[in-house]
Amino acid sequence: MSPPGGEGRAAGHTPLIAQYLDIKSRHPDALLFFRVGDFYEMFFEDAEEGSGLLGLTLTSRNNGASADVPLAGVPVKAAAEYVSRLLRAGRRVAICEQLEEAAEADGIVRRDVVEVITPGTVLEDTLLADDRNNYVVAVSGTGPFGVAAADLSTGEFELRSIPTTEALLDELGRLEPAEIVVPEGSEPFTGPWLVTARPAWRFEPALGEERLRERFGVASSAGFGLRSDADAHLLSAAAAALAYLDEVRPAGVDHLRPPRVDREGGIMYLDGMTRRNLELVEPLRVGEGSSLLDLLDRTRTPMGARLLRRRVLRPLVDRAAIERRLSAVAELFEARARRAEIRRRLAGVRDLERLAARIATGRAGPRDLLGLGRSVEVLPGVQEELDDVGSPALVALRDGFDALEDVRSRIEGALDPDAPPTLKDGGVIRAGHSEELDGLRATRTNAVDVIAGLQARERERTGIDSLKVGFNRVFGYYIEVSKAKLDRVPDDYVRKQTLTNAERYLTPELKEWEARVLGAEDGIVRLETRLFQELRDAVAAEVPRVQATARRVAEIDLFAALAEVAERERYVRPELSDEPVLSIVEGRHPVVESTVARERFVPNDVTLDAGLRVMIVTGPNMAGKSTVLRQVGLICLMAQIGSFVPASRALVGVCDRVFTRVGASDNLAAGMSTFMVEMTETATILNGATERSLVLLDEIGRGTSTYDGVSIAWAVTEHLHELGARTVFATHYHELVGLADTLARAAAFNVAVKERGRDIVFLHRLRPGGSDRSYGVHVGRLAGLPPAVVGRAARILRELESGPWGVGGRGAALAERARGQLSLFEAPSARDAEEGDRLHPGLTAALERLRELDPDHLTPLEALRALAELKADLDA
Ligand code: ADP
Ligand code: MG
Repeated sequence: MSPPGGEGRAAGHTPLIAQYLDIKSRHPDALLFFRVGDFYEMFFEDAEEGSGLLGLTLTSRNNGASADVPLAGVPVKAAAEYVSRLLRAGRRVAICEQLEEAAEADGIVRRDVVEVITPGTVLEDTLLADDRNNYVVAVSGTGPFGVAAADLSTGEFELRSIPTTEALLDELGRLEPAEIVVPEGSEPFTGPWLVTARPAWRFEPALGEERLRERFGVASSAGFGLRSDADAHLLSAAAAALAYLDEVRPAGVDHLRPPRVDREGGIMYLDGMTRRNLELVEPLRVGEGSSLLDLLDRTRTPMGARLLRRRVLRPLVDRAAIERRLSAVAELFEARARRAEIRRRLAGVRDLERLAARIATGRAGPRDLLGLGRSVEVLPGVQEELDDVGSPALVALRDGFDALEDVRSRIEGALDPDAPPTLKDGGVIRAGHSEELDGLRATRTNAVDVIAGLQARERERTGIDSLKVGFNRVFGYYIEVSKAKLDRVPDDYVRKQTLTNAERYLTPELKEWEARVLGAEDGIVRLETRLFQELRDAVAAEVPRVQATARRVAEIDLFAALAEVAERERYVRPELSDEPVLSIVEGRHPVVESTVARERFVPNDVTLDAGLRVMIVTGPNMAGKSTVLRQVGLICLMAQIGSFVPASRALVGVCDRVFTRVGASDNLAAGMSTFMVEMTETATILNGATERSLVLLDEIGRGTSTYDGVSIAWAVTEHLHELGARTVFATHYHELVGLADTLARAAAFNVAVKERGRDIVFLHRLRPGGSDRSYGVHVGRLAGLPPAVVGRAARILRELESGPWGVGGRGAALAERARGQLSLFEAPSARDAEEGDRLHPGLTAALERLRELDPDHLTPLEALRALAELKADLDA
């Protein structure tokens, strides 16, 4: 096979292939769907790749003097499905259409690419999820980064300045873009998105300035709050994003809204660990359990659902801004009847943002416009419900609310309420809208009536009682006579079609009336199409208004939804403070409580204040440590999103960040369980936390040996204590209970269990003090380990407990030893040197090794080797 372009061209391609190669050269990274009649054809490598991905037969096409060209094609009618499969496979597809009728063409038909469909710019409903945005994101710079995020399906366009690489990854984690655009040659950010590299010159800030001005008709980008020097990285990202949109949709994207410039000031930084561990928008194990978002999402509209998702991922850090949201929720919480009424009406609102995008891009059909009309029908009622609201956020939503009544009456005036989804059969425009159309319809009806009357007249003329006038799509109108009566058929009948039991005929009269019917129908469809397009263009001109209203509707929906959840789940409005405090009375875990019978969830109090910064929570497996820890994080985040919280009272000192770290064994996210990852994440916390942060540590240090683990946990706790960050640390290291005693602002807590006979009962109640027993053996019994194994384990446990390493002696002694290990992590000091003799670092390693030895099962040789290793440890 000869490669496309280059030498191949000289080799004498047919004009069609030459045209193909020319167009393909402008879209090297897309699969080119090249329209030939009723098919989209792929040639050369595209044919090979496409046939593989789509399971199509690979054939070949003659190419004049050159070698045959590989070919694979899909019918135009089925193209949407094939395109979606290619998109899901991470490919992009350039749609090349014939731009003139074959008959008009002088030589070869003109063709060009009318759109490039890519995962980040797709508008096909079937490829979009209702409840989340679909962004293409252009990234520029090397820190600070400029991020330009565009969602073509809704018209949203945001510019954001991001200080560091870490923050950029955080931002990409929230946006979950389908595609990112980066300069050619730059380091790609790997992730579940398609990476699109484009020439570096497209990222020129000056170009961004120019494009923003042109597209949005402003005198300067300063109108959007952009500064030409300081925001060069934003202008650069905007330049690349807009250039890319023009590339994929040459016909333009008029519905793209002016950029919202976001400087990240008021938003809490939320890293991937915390997002995952607190299961904010997705459960840890996909398909199992539910997320906070699932629980909160009682929105009634797709716009509201998308907004909620964005807000859950962007908690605020500014107390006044949070209070503003909380007041709106509180007002709708109190006003039950009003809330119910608003929600009832909103249930009838379709996806205004995506409808607007379809209308603006000329993809909307009759049902879409009807959908818009019916959606806005309910808006005056919503507006009325907001008449006398008092909270500033709701007042702002009400003032200037545009219920789009003119848009609705325009649509209603033109469209038939029962219009079919497409234009091809007519019936779209309502009677009375156009005199010309009504005239054509009357002509048709009249002709149809005449044809209907023909049956009676012909029966009479021929004496054939069973004679019928009928219609089918292929043959048109006909007169049908059964075989038995053929002898009575008059001479002027012309045979048209033979069936088993009948013959079908035409007469000159029938033919004439049929022509009138068809002529009128043709005229009707053409006129209806024109009228519909006029209507769509008229509505398209109002798209910015539709979008603005959609945005308000989303907010109203969101506030009402949060109020609704608050009532149903018995949440309370959190009190906020600028001091780094936290006081939760009878707090619950919102998701866990929704999965156990309500009365069975045990609420817990948690208080962190100036005197207590670090809580160390111990307790056996399954006691509820992780649950209480996560509920603290969730309550703070919910409050800062602007939601009520699951507690009977909550005072939340606004957190600048919430950090969570879940130790290896609790973190089942695949392939994450190395100790190195755990330490890297812990380092992130220690480097990023401030006195205003909330730090949640669940079983850190598990990924290594006990002593390493305890030591690290110990040192981390000391550090956070020093820093004064509000910290909750759940651990199975009882040694840390001793640590709590030595630190002034730390205290031990445990999640209570009760022994009943040989079983234990989980009380799920948090109480002061450490727990000092391991209930692992009991849990083993509950889990169904065979009785013999449980019995043996219980005996071993007793032996261990009474031995020199037993739990009995643990607290102080082990704490001491663990403290000795700290010298591994701290700069050596005089004191350490002094203690060196007593607690040689190698000693702990040797002891660990010794403990693992089983003399009963050692050969003499193995025993010798073990002895040598022990000595080596001590000498190390
Ligand atoms: P741990 O981290 O101590 O091993 P978890 O927090 O994972 O324990 O809790 C184990 C299970 O116990 C949870 O899945 C939940 O079903 C139940 N549970 C935890 N806390 C409570 C509570 N406060 N009330 C009722 N059930 C709870
Ligand atoms: Mg746990």
